Amino acid sequence: MKCLCEQKETYNLKVEADVGADPIWCKHCGCNLDIEDFSISLDLKSKLWKWVERYGEWIDWDNDEIAHNGIKLEEEHNKQGLLLTKQVQKELEGHYEVSFSPSTFARTSVNEK
Ligand SMILES: [Zn+2]
Repeated sequence: MKCLCEQKETYNLKVEADVGADPIWCKHCGCNLDIEDFSISLDLKSKLWKWVERYGEWIDWDNDEIAHNGIKLEEEHNKQGLLLTKQVQKELEGHYEVSFSPSTFARTSVNEK
């Protein structure tokens, strides 16, 4: 996969959800990669998009703090993310190293209080 990395080519990917971004990133430089460029099944792609859409259900965006029941929602989202990452690993096996990068927003905002 072409990337902005020094090596211009990346084989190390991470799955991470963020607002308005594709769910696959370069692990070296943090570049957001186009999911359409990967040979991932349509079924898995749509699952990944649904997962990304639900990112931030645990965030109260207006006040930039954790929403009601936030920790539970984030944990659930991370659990699904891990499962999806495993499916991505399987589909890209032999081509890419894929790891999961969980959301830590809820947990860190609670620790700060
Ligand atoms: Zn990169």
